[in-house]
Amino acid sequence: MHFVFITGGVASSLGKGIASASLAALLKSRNFKVRIRKLDPYLNVDPGTMSPYQHGEVYVTDDGAETDLDLGHYERFTNQSSKKSDSISSGKIYSTVLSKERKGDYLGATIQVIPHVTNEIKSFINSDLKKEDFAIYEIGGTVGDIESLPFLEAIRQIRNDKKISSALIHMTYIPYLSFAGELKTKPTQHSVKELLNAGIQPDIIMCRSEKPIDQESITKISLFCNVKKDSVIPALNANSIYDVPSLYSKYGLDESLLKHLGYKSKNHPLDLKPWYSLLKKIKNQKSQIKIAVVGKYTNLKDSYKSLSEALMHGGIENSVNVKIKWINSEKLKKQKLISALKDCDGILVPGGFGARGIEGKIDAIKYARKYNVPFFGICLGMQLAVIEIAQNVLNIKDANSSEFNQTSNSVIGLMTEWIKGNKVEKRSKNSNKGGTMRLGSYKAKLKRNSKIYSIYNKQLISERHRHRYEVNKKFISKFNNKGYDFSGMSPDGLLPEVLESKNHKWFIGVQYHPELKSRPLKPHPLFVSFIKNCKK
Ligand code: GLN
Repeated sequence: MHFVFITGGVASSLGKGIASASLAALLKSRNFKVRIRKLDPYLNVDPGTMSPYQHGEVYVTDDGAETDLDLGHYERFTNQSSKKSDSISSGKIYSTVLSKERKGDYLGATIQVIPHVTNEIKSFINSDLKKEDFAIYEIGGTVGDIESLPFLEAIRQIRNDKKISSALIHMTYIPYLSFAGELKTKPTQHSVKELLNAGIQPDIIMCRSEKPIDQESITKISLFCNVKKDSVIPALNANSIYDVPSLYSKYGLDESLLKHLGYKSKNHPLDLKPWYSLLKKIKNQKSQIKIAVVGKYTNLKDSYKSLSEALMHGGIENSVNVKIKWINSEKLKKQKLISALKDCDGILVPGGFGARGIEGKIDAIKYARKYNVPFFGICLGMQLAVIEIAQNVLNIKDANSSEFNQTSNSVIGLMTEWIKGNKVEKRSKNSNKGGTMRLGSYKAKLKRNSKIYSIYNKQLISERHRHRYEVNKKFISKFNNKGYDFSGMSPDGLLPEVLESKNHKWFIGVQYHPELKSRPLKPHPLFVSFIKNCKK
């Protein structure tokens, strides 16, 4: 087994996550068994409590971990599901160390970053491995950040152990100075020095750049940073993110890694056929449709990363290019919002938290319902559809969610207990905010002659959840009388999972997050069906 560590230098947002995911995809395409994990230096225990404005989407795994959005890239590129044990933060490491200290596990020792914190990091790196050929670890942040030092120290120690085979890939940025007409390698040299300060010599340097990198720059980086010339890999911008694996392979990333670790790459041939046929499909998209996504975190596109990817996957499958029109429901109100929706072929209201911006979302749902525009509600989007229908079709004027307003008609209410495995999970209004939602994959049972059943083509599905509130079952019959069906329920029949309209072209709300399971090589059926109906 080989450990591959991926660090970043010079600047953040270079696309280290996609590069790591692409490397994993390339190794898988050479038939290796791969695991890919994320180490984040921030002090939050997990990203569950972080604002999507700051940190982008919170990605949820099958086993209920709230993780960094990079795990979404890993799943999409490798087509394999991540686990709770694939993501860790400094916060989690420190909280483990501190709780061990309280229990007296350290037998009176003075607790220090080295060795206690670094040992905890090393034990995470070694934990839960299943005889993979490669375990890839992406280190979040940028080398030189104060928080990442313990991670670098742990990596230094691992690399110092002669029994362990490892490689370190450092991703940097080569800026182009237009007034000098030159690419500059100095920031890369400095960031490698930063790594050397931590006792780490990189084996491969990936150079992100907006311009093709000339031989002279490659030679310079090789010389100053002490890596072989063929281990300086240009990493230029791609047309589509799904182009990245083949592009990086063309630049020699996987070859150079295999060579470094003593493999003959010709004994492990690369099969990128599925990726090439995906790229061909993307190229052949004949028309374009516009989907309105009505949310409140629309300023930072990363807040809806899996969602925009899933819409794109649905488009690829239907040979249409999906253009997303981001509509901020906090800023646009009433008529302005409605007129923004008019040129859209479908409306999607995604997940979200809190009362801000919900009126606009409800207006958008009402518009979709009345004018027969395909509508897709996800989690909060489904809950708001339930509220809209209750208020305007069932005439329950004060219908609301207790998340926003406590009325006598809480069609959406706090879920105080539910079954997970063999045990009952309990929550109350005063529970901690972090890690206390209904999280991870749960099964739902679909009604046989429903639209949702025809989309999945099976009765028992499993989808990922992340929410605190739930549709109140006692209102179900009122909805049924007006042509709305809760066509998917939790297997015990207690929790509504899917709402669909019987008389509308395509009006579906789901309590779960199907976008988390959509993959380019395996698009999610709900997104395929939604886009198909928007295209009609
Ligand atoms: N805020 C809602 C809840 O907690 C919906 C959450 C979501 O959309 N992920 O139930």
